[in-house]
Amino acid sequence: MTFSDLPIIEPILRALEHEGYTNPTPIQEEAIPVALQGKDILGCAQTGTGKTAAFAIPILQLLTAQADRNQGRRIVKVLIVTPTRELSIQIGESFDAYGRHLHLKHAVIFGGVPQNAQTKALQQGVDILVATPGRLLDLMQQKFISLKNISILVLDEADRMLDMGFIHDVKRILAAVPLKRQTLFFSATMPPEIVKLSSSILHQPTNIAVTPASSTVEIIEQSVYFVAKADKPSLLMHILRDKSIETALVFTRTKHGADKVSRILNKCNIKSEAIHGNKTQGARQRALSNFKNRTIRVLVASDIAARGIDIDELSCVINFDTPNIPETYVHRIGRTGRAGADGIAISFCDVEEKAYLKDIQKLIAKQIPVVTNHPFPLSLDAEAAVVEKKKNTSKPQSANRSRSQHPATGRVDSREGRRRR
Ligand code: AMP
Repeated sequence: MTFSDLPIIEPILRALEHEGYTNPTPIQEEAIPVALQGKDILGCAQTGTGKTAAFAIPILQLLTAQADRNQGRRIVKVLIVTPTRELSIQIGESFDAYGRHLHLKHAVIFGGVPQNAQTKALQQGVDILVATPGRLLDLMQQKFISLKNISILVLDEADRMLDMGFIHDVKRILAAVPLKRQTLFFSATMPPEIVKLSSSILHQPTNIAVTPASSTVEIIEQSVYFVAKADKPSLLMHILRDKSIETALVFTRTKHGADKVSRILNKCNIKSEAIHGNKTQGARQRALSNFKNRTIRVLVASDIAARGIDIDELSCVINFDTPNIPETYVHRIGRTGRAGADGIAISFCDVEEKAYLKDIQKLIAKQIPVVTNHPFPLSLDAEAAVVEKKKNTSKPQSANRSRSQHPATGRVDSREGRRRR
């Protein structure tokens, strides 16, 4: 199927051609006709599946039809709520791209930056608003934004919004939009809280589940290296000596870890920058564009940045730390192999992370091939020593176990960075 087989208007088809897109991705194929009919959608899809265009294209088309009737009166009619600044910026860029031949205006608002430029854009009149929850509520309170004319609401990465503690903000936003509206709800995973939230706000939705979080990883060439924690930087250097890895996104569990890895790489003349929640919005955007335009070869990111990063032709994702939440693995490696492209995902796994690896393999229903011939193999002695040390140190902590159990396995972990559900 090509885009011209879908009921899409000519100016959008031309914009898609300009982007080099010929064939819709599965979520686009399913969602575009449904959304164009004004129906609600419950979409289970993660970033990388083309879901932004799946909602942006019908929104642009529906608004164009409305604009003809309204003779261009600009009021905010579409609201897209998204968890992170990066994602909101990317969604804004998508509207720019697919709407390049239309006369619709959008604004992107998010926190962490002064509000002036955003309020100025709002005052000039916009049709589409892309927003993160906090700044949106803030500007609503200051009366810069009214949601009373919203006819289409998109909740993007709803699971992420819940994870980030935005549930109350989302509920306040929902209370401010008209009940009579079209709602498009997207989430990468469908845990019970998400199902509950979605059923409370969607009206007879069409369910579209293109890629269960665990199956998008099929096209990505995955491998795991067993390595001692202390040897991870040397192994990273060894891997990056391979010049065929043009760009690499390296994930660490903590912000501190991201900074440390980036420092080590730069010392070894591998240009890199770290991106994480402690960095200012400006620094994050700068690092991202330096990575996109290849000024730096390696971007080191903590998980908070994982979902929002959209880079075409990213050749390699390296998990410097094996993630302790299996879904995080899927989201991290989903940064490569986007929209059907090939990708490589390498994971470093130390003794203590072996349990996490087991959980990941269970989720993706696949054994990740182990690379054994590398210069820093995990020695059996080292492995035994760590297990022994853990046995000795874990005894006095037993009273705290229930508070730090692994969500999937019930296994205990006292390390920094564990997310609790
Ligand atoms: P998304 O899931 O919306 O974050 O999109 C993932 C990536 O796929 C983005 O870089 C898009 O530019 C790209 N993309 C979206 N739709 C298509 C398509 N039909 N053909 C090729 N690339 C696409």
